[in-house]
Amino acid sequence: MKYTFPITRTPESGISKVDFDNLPFGKIYSDHMFVADYQDGQWTNLEIRPIAPIPTHPGNMAWHYGQAIFEGMKASRDMEGNALLFRPEMHAKRFNASARRMCMPEVPEELFLQAIHTLIDMEKEWIPQQVGSAMYIRPFMYATDETIGVKASDTYRFIIFVMPVGPYYNKPVRLLAQDQYVRAVVGGVGEAKTAGNYAASLLPATMARKEGFDQVMWLDGIHKKYIQEVGTMNIFFVSGNEVLTPNLDGAILAGITRDSVITLLKGEGYTVTERPITIHEIVEMHQQGKLTEVFGTGTAAVIAPVEAIQYKDDLIQLDMSQRKISQWVYDTINGIRSRQVEDKYSWLVTA
Ligand SMILES: *Cc1c(COP(=O)(O)O)cnc(C)c1O
Repeated sequence: MKYTFPITRTPESGISKVDFDNLPFGKIYSDHMFVADYQDGQWTNLEIRPIAPIPTHPGNMAWHYGQAIFEGMKASRDMEGNALLFRPEMHAKRFNASARRMCMPEVPEELFLQAIHTLIDMEKEWIPQQVGSAMYIRPFMYATDETIGVKASDTYRFIIFVMPVGPYYNKPVRLLAQDQYVRAVVGGVGEAKTAGNYAASLLPATMARKEGFDQVMWLDGIHKKYIQEVGTMNIFFVSGNEVLTPNLDGAILAGITRDSVITLLKGEGYTVTERPITIHEIVEMHQQGKLTEVFGTGTAAVIAPVEAIQYKDDLIQLDMSQRKISQWVYDTINGIRSRQVEDKYSWLVTA
């Protein structure tokens, strides 16, 4: 271990108050968090301490100018109770890619990983073992200069907290293809996991929900016809033995679940094509009876089967009895996470 830092334990754990059989998503925090500050060009004040609010000055730059990035990853437990992380280095790399785009300092990969390992080891008891549940890990960084005026901050804070979570979606989702508002454009910040992207998505998401949909399907910002992603998930379409997903064009977030799904399907002999896909093409594929499955992918939901897509006057209603491929990838990823399916690609790291 390269870094050494102090650990302050909570005098009283909150774990006994948690109902692990009825976990909501994103509401229950474990006992501790990792915190580090970036000052004078380096990371300092590394520590793990009880999770608690951090007083912040009203002039904090993150609140005004939006330098804030995050990651979302999961830890699980195997049959022997060991904590397992899923592709943590890839999350470290993507975190730093987000940092570069937002003009923020990188966190050395080793620091990022060691902090997660140490925290997960301390909070091992908090990792739920119920099917579909997991430990969600949220590393994030924000600007901390107390200065008004648009510029990159000189100081930052990096925090990691963890939360036991239940299943994210438990039913198939209905999507509304959005041709008025856009999530991101090539050259913008769509590729970065930065706070503003999610703020920008809230109005269209709320409007979609009022019309009875669960998520927005984002189309590209220029032609408003190329499918990008859905809500905070990447999207896949299945037609027979061919699986299609939009190529990473610079506006789409490079999902790690997306990458895992592509790898697993190719390994199983499916043809997976990454290319620009128009919404019209998908409507037509459905009309010809060739669209067999649609699903979203992301760390939180893993796989979210899609039940319907509305685009203008066209409603694509999918046959939910045909969930062969999405069910297989879901079972495989969850199986790997609990070591019940062979980890062929060495994605698991013991914490
Ligand atoms: C996080 C995220 C995803 C999914 O990425 P994973 O690495 O699979 O969790 C997809 N789209 C957006 C916009 C995201 O923020």
